[in-house]
Amino acid sequence: MNLRTTLVACVALTLAFANPAIAQQSAPTFPTDDAVLRRIWAIGMDSSRVEQLAGTLFDSIGPRLTGTAIQRNAQDWLVSMYTRWGIDAKKEQFGTWRGWRRGPSHVDLISPRVRTLEATMVAFSPGTKGAPLVAGTIILPHFEDSTAFVRWLPQARGKLVLISAPPATCRPTSDWTQFGTPESRARLDSVRAERTREWGNPNVRGTGYSAALGGGALGLRLDKAGVAGVLTSRPKDALGTREIFETYNTRSPTLSLSCEDYGLVFRLTERGNNPRLRLDLDSRLLPEQPVFNTIATIPGTEKPDEYILLSAHFDSWDGSSGATDNGTGTLTMMEAMRILKQVYPRPKRTIRVGHWVAEENGLVGSKAYREDHPEVVAGLQAVFNNDNGTGRIVRLGATGFPNGDVHARQWLAKLPDVFRNQINYIGVGVPGTGGSDDFSFYCAGTPSFGLGSLNWNYGTETWHTDRDTYDKVVFEDLKMNATIAAMFAYLASEDPEKISRERVDLSVVADSIDRANAANPPAPGSPVRPPPLRAWPSCGLEAPRKTRPRL
Ligand SMILES: [Zn+2]
Repeated sequence: MNLRTTLVACVALTLAFANPAIAQQSAPTFPTDDAVLRRIWAIGMDSSRVEQLAGTLFDSIGPRLTGTAIQRNAQDWLVSMYTRWGIDAKKEQFGTWRGWRRGPSHVDLISPRVRTLEATMVAFSPGTKGAPLVAGTIILPHFEDSTAFVRWLPQARGKLVLISAPPATCRPTSDWTQFGTPESRARLDSVRAERTREWGNPNVRGTGYSAALGGGALGLRLDKAGVAGVLTSRPKDALGTREIFETYNTRSPTLSLSCEDYGLVFRLTERGNNPRLRLDLDSRLLPEQPVFNTIATIPGTEKPDEYILLSAHFDSWDGSSGATDNGTGTLTMMEAMRILKQVYPRPKRTIRVGHWVAEENGLVGSKAYREDHPEVVAGLQAVFNNDNGTGRIVRLGATGFPNGDVHARQWLAKLPDVFRNQINYIGVGVPGTGGSDDFSFYCAGTPSFGLGSLNWNYGTETWHTDRDTYDKVVFEDLKMNATIAAMFAYLASEDPEKISRERVDLSVVADSIDRANAANPPAPGSPVRPPPLRAWPSCGLEAPRKTRPRL
């Protein structure tokens, strides 16, 4: 290293340490004299590794779409990091999934004017086979029924078909609330409602087909009819954000366009300006590929057959980097394991982390793990799952396990004041009906605790969007989450008793919710309240061991 690079490196290092993102949290008050909890705090809050890990995982490796080589590379990195920390880790195959490789892509409007469009292939899209493709556009008309749709299909041959609603606005609703008149707001609401009715699944524009997440059965029918491509857009309620999912087309590329550029192409088409687009798309559809969960374990010494399971899905969609869905949950659990290995290397119970994949395809990896490991399910003391963005953990509940509630209260009472004050503990609670991997375990009756993150506009800004990137991560919050997860794992491991599997009587809970709702009816126009659960949720179908299309 020469002098200049040494200086540059020193400056970079100094800047890194001057970065307020890694400023130290002031010392907390601990309610007990437990030395392990103090050491967990010291390592988690004062010598955190989450920023370096995030840089590697989100920037250098990238999104972890199930069925891609990038996901497998990321899992090799995961295993290598655990190995470096002295923790036993392995990839465990549970099936196969369709494979795909994303290459470079470029999309331009070339007529009536030139503009490079904000557009990307949705996952598993075919490409243009080595040469740019130029094609005109056509808007999916409204049909009386699917027979009329099929009669129309020859007109779409060789065209790029717009199958999403034109945007009513590309401004977030908050702009309209702040600046709109009652009349402009009302008009927006009615246009949106009409477009959702007309263009929404499962019967897009009367075709009888659903566009599912990115093209769906409608895309496949267009593919079969010989269209040049499918244009879609799923904008979210925030500037510049859109959801990007997948297609099952095998011949015609499927693109996701930004709200603005989709609206532009839609209006040009509608006005008869005959827009033409040039697509240069490199991708490769591959046969079924092996898919793996990554499992890391610190073996228990006194009760090795009882398990604390840290849970966070590792896969992501690939419209951006999967930083908050679920990169942050991943790093929370990785870092918790790193901390535990240092301060609590010989736990009473076995502490295991499951970095599941194919969560985005229906909780497939975690479900398969539950099916393949009845011994772990039988020995589970507690599952801690984190999968709702970068925010600090502010909610905890016992998911409908009354004895879990008793234990959780004891653990909470031992946390430092900072964490006790920030966590809204909701008590016994009720189970959910899906949503993340803890479902795969509590549906089978194992005590589970969802670590609920503060919102940070997860739903509109980062969840499944083109903007889920490194810069959205709030590192102060992430450090706390790793520290909290490590503390809960330690406390659940040391707990003198195993948590019983008694479940709350959901019919009794539902009766009381119904009574409360009746006494406090929703205001007119407010969203309909879903009926409360009356029975414990079923685990549903077995995990698919090869691609199960979602059309
Ligand atoms: Zn997720």
